[in-house]
Parts: sequence; structure tokens; C-alpha cells
Amino acid sequence: MDNHSPAIFVGDTLGLDFLNSVATPVDVPIDWIDDGEGLLRWLEQAGLVPRETLAAMRERALPGELDKVADQARNLREWFRAFVNSHKGKPLTADALNDLEPLNRLLERDEGFGRIVARQSGGEGLGFQPMRKWRSPESLLLPIGEALGRFVCTEDFSDVKACEGHACTMLFVDHTRGHRRRWCSMAMCGNRAKQAAHRHRLKQS
Ligand SMILES: [Zn+2]
Repeated sequence: MDNHSPAIFVGDTLGLDFLNSVATPVDVPIDWIDDGEGLLRWLEQAGLVPRETLAAMRERALPGELDKVADQARNLREWFRAFVNSHKGKPLTADALNDLEPLNRLLERDEGFGRIVARQSGGEGLGFQPMRKWRSPESLLLPIGEALGRFVCTEDFSDVKACEGHACTMLFVDHTRGHRRRWCSMAMCGNRAKQAAHRHRLKQS
């Protein structure tokens, strides 16, 4: 498994999936946005940037330009991780606004517009589709910024949790009814914990 394997989307919100784009699913840490190509792949898998836009970016970019944007994306990711870690477990209040200023500065660079299109599914009508001007490779950071912004405004930070798996760094929003979710996924950490508990019981008996 390396960063050409499909990225992991267990956060139940893109804001946290972005943080989970570096993780240790087996033994070795994998950074899915290690370089420019990795960033393009992750953005496509996250559904944040249309495939044609990514192809055009790849074609037009100067050597090293996309790698530089990937650097910026990783800086944004680690800054946002510190924010989430210091605020998770309790509701966000307006006091957090100061800390979020760097994100607001990213968001104000966005150039969005709307377009009227034929509705994709469900019959005849017309749909209003939000669009964005992709002026430079740096604009690839904008949909990430939007996902982070929406995440802090719509999710209850009381439900933001870190996986309890040993050495696991994955974060998720617990949307389960009883708020009992403990693992990034059963396949990755849940089963491992179950097996460890089982071995522990065998040893004791
Ligand atoms: Zn885990």
C-alpha cells in the first residue's frame, strides 16, 4: 500500500478526511498529498475538483508548481489539525474565530459564480450549479478551504473524535445515534482491538 492506493474517507466529513490524508493504515505512514500528483489524485477522489479541471491544471502547470501547492496543502492540513485537536470534544463558539483567521484569509481569495444548467438527474428542469474560477494551481486549495469552513460551521465539535486505535491518527465525526463510535473503521482498528482483547483473555484464562 502506498499513496497510489485509494485514499481513506472515514471521517464522515471532508474536513476531517483532509486531515486523514496522512495516516498509518498498516505499518508505514502514507501521505496521499505527498506531492503535486498526489494532491490531484486526492482532490479527484474527494470529489472536490472536476476531473477536466484537474487534467487542465496538470497540463498547464510549470515544473514544480503543483508540488508547491501540495506543500501549501500540507501546511494548511497541519495548521487545521492543531485547530481541531485543541477544539474537539466541545462545541465551537465565536471565541474560535480568532484561531480561524488564516482560513478566512484563504476563503476570501475564492472566485465563485453560479451557472444555470440542465438538471443532472430527475427529469426536465434546470439546476443552479455553483462554479469556481480556477485561475492558478493555488486555486486548488480553495475547495479544500470551503470544505474546512463548512465543517467548522455545520458539525458539532462535541462529536469530533480521534480513533482509539493504538497509534492511529485518524479523526472522524461520530454521527452514530448513541455516539458510541470508537474506531476509524472496524476493518482497520476495530478488529485489531478486538483481536488484542481476545488474545488478552486467552492469556488470562
Ligand atoms: Zn483507527
